Amino acid sequence: MRGHPSFLMPTYARYPVTLVRGEGMRVFDAQGQAYLDFAGGIAAVPIGHSHPAWLGAVEAQLRRLVHVSNLFFTEPQEALAARLVSLAGFGLVFLANSGAEANEAALKLVRRWGRPRGRTEVVALLGSFHGRTFATLAATGQPAKHAPFAPLPGGFVHVPHNDPEALDGAVGPSTAAVLLEPVLGEGGVVPLDPDYLALARRLCTERGALLVLDEVQTGVGRTGAWFAFQRLGVEPDVVTLAKALGGGLPIGAVIAREELAFGPGEHASTFGGGPVPCAAALAVLEVIEREGLLEHCRARGDQLLRGLRAAGAEGVREVRGAGLLVGVEMVDERARRVVLALLSRGFLATEAGPAVVRFAPPLTVSAEDVEALLEAFPAACEEAAARAPVPG
Ligand code: PLP
Repeated sequence: MRGHPSFLMPTYARYPVTLVRGEGMRVFDAQGQAYLDFAGGIAAVPIGHSHPAWLGAVEAQLRRLVHVSNLFFTEPQEALAARLVSLAGFGLVFLANSGAEANEAALKLVRRWGRPRGRTEVVALLGSFHGRTFATLAATGQPAKHAPFAPLPGGFVHVPHNDPEALDGAVGPSTAAVLLEPVLGEGGVVPLDPDYLALARRLCTERGALLVLDEVQTGVGRTGAWFAFQRLGVEPDVVTLAKALGGGLPIGAVIAREELAFGPGEHASTFGGGPVPCAAALAVLEVIEREGLLEHCRARGDQLLRGLRAAGAEGVREVRGAGLLVGVEMVDERARRVVLALLSRGFLATEAGPAVVRFAPPLTVSAEDVEALLEAFPAACEEAAARAPVPG
């Protein structure tokens, strides 16, 4: 599928295909082969590829105004902030370019708020993922990812997920915030128990800490609500978004309670919340609302989850998820082989760790597309099982 050498740093274990075009739920490679996109750009293409409303909004904004910096007001940015606050039901917004930057800003907000109160620590989860900058890497509960880059910024404590006692023991007088993904995405698509999230909220409120939800992967409709916290009935003090927000263009957002907001000169970004990504994000939110995609996501997510569970495919240990973020945990580290077997059958998917196959398609995915994946999945699992490396 690919022959020429690459001059890119080998940062990613890329799948062996060069994609050249996308349309709705489909992407096409250089040979014209079509794939149903159940990878969804890692949960970042919520309304499919090149949705006409999104394309129209982006093209119009490209012609109108592309960049002036954040020293000036722009209409798309003001409109997007207002829309996000109305969807979240609280707060003020800071706009960035990515998930890591949104989380970095959230961590700075937390530190700035906590310092004068003697609270400088953030409690996060083992197995979590919050980004690749130094602070978000330190927040990420995966020691193997830390090792080559030590020393990392301090002030992070990690506890096992869905473990109420561990959380209870970790939140104390020096805790500034508890930082959680409602569903651990990169950590293997592991939903937090609703009771555990409710406990986190209660502990933070009672003990004077902030609750920060990283909804970079779960936000913008992915779990069938604008924010996962709205399905779970827990209101955070700070929430971060990125991935799906721009419909494929880079943008990140922090929404924080008003009294936590940065003041002039405390944080900034040259490109953050530029007119084009903001216009793209406004189009994404508009399409999700107009096309009833939250409800659609719940229905198709249910179909996918139940169908994968019912498929009885070889080597599957567990199927779990929320909305259209679905993970299939295999009995061993064979996720890549399953993903490659799906690729050869015309389906894109991704790994979330070595044992978990992740599906995060556009929220527009049809019942027929889901059915097609469900039909192909058992054969892909069989192929992955047959290709197991010979031990020794
Ligand atoms: N937070 C979560 C929950 C994520 O899943 C990711 C990316 O996978 C990030 C943060 C980092 O986002 P980005 O890659 O846009 O920096």
